Amino acid sequence: MRKHTYFRTRYMYFLVLLIILSILCVLSASEYDRAFIQMPTVNMSLQALSPYKNSEGIEYWPLCTSKNNQPRYVTGTNPHQGTDLSINVGELIYPIFDGEIVYMNKDISKQLGHIIIKSDIGYEEPVYIEYLHVAPIQGLDVNDFVYTSIPIATIDEYNRYDSHLHIGRVNEDRTLHYQFYDLFSNVTRWKNGSDLDVFSYPNYNNETNMFSITAYVSSDTENLDYYGGYGRFPMKHITFFYSVNHGTWNSFYISQHDEEFTYSFNVKQLTGAKSNDVIKYYITATRDNQSLFDTTFKDAPYTVTYYPAYYSHPSSTLTKEQAERIALSLTVK
Ligand SMILES: [Zn+2]
Repeated sequence: MRKHTYFRTRYMYFLVLLIILSILCVLSASEYDRAFIQMPTVNMSLQALSPYKNSEGIEYWPLCTSKNNQPRYVTGTNPHQGTDLSINVGELIYPIFDGEIVYMNKDISKQLGHIIIKSDIGYEEPVYIEYLHVAPIQGLDVNDFVYTSIPIATIDEYNRYDSHLHIGRVNEDRTLHYQFYDLFSNVTRWKNGSDLDVFSYPNYNNETNMFSITAYVSSDTENLDYYGGYGRFPMKHITFFYSVNHGTWNSFYISQHDEEFTYSFNVKQLTGAKSNDVIKYYITATRDNQSLFDTTFKDAPYTVTYYPAYYSHPSSTLTKEQAERIALSLTVK
């Protein structure tokens, strides 16, 4: 009898341990892990070049097929941690800044050839740019210095992913992704970089209380009706979440945008705040899975993206604590 009780107690301990372990497992791979860094937009003195040049060696700006921070229908990070550019197999890839190779995966058996280059571009900290799904040029190695005029890799052939260049700005240990558009504010073909991130150019005018931000997605798969196969598609709407003077969180939708996909609205009017009130806020953009145009999105379950970008896979609403971790603030005029 005693032995039996002992066994039962041990069994219970084991069960409790199992439950704790499984909770820890879920927590450690949390959807609310940090995946992005959103920096204030800075006027960069040194703009990046294209990672691709045409056959005459002239700077060429390939179509973006999936933006950084984009909810998508494919497997892989969701929202997308990086930007996909449509470039053919075997084409040469160039660094977008001069710099030093700090990481390389030369093993292309899984189409995961990967190069990270550190560049000092007169910014407050060095920038790290990653090039993924590539076959590194033979002989290149970590610590080599590379130049924008000399190729570092070719686009790898199809294996597990459609052939393309995945490019992005990462932190030093390549666990977090930054916004990318502000490195290309001079590139009209990429809408001044807006083609590369779902959200770009947030701006609050503290004289007029007008807030504006640009938001749209690119298709994940080929859609021959638009832009040579890859479209720019409007969001279903954006949502402004706010808390006035640390009060409860509220929100409103905005679906109207101009032809550049820029949403503009008067924060004072729409929140009912008074002069000198402090508003904490964040914004989501919802991808339209009912759209007749953006047919590649189908019925994907996960449809939202955040500004500021932060979490690896957030749901469409945040708890107060999750909201306050990412919220920005402005003072109403
Ligand atoms: Zn990608």
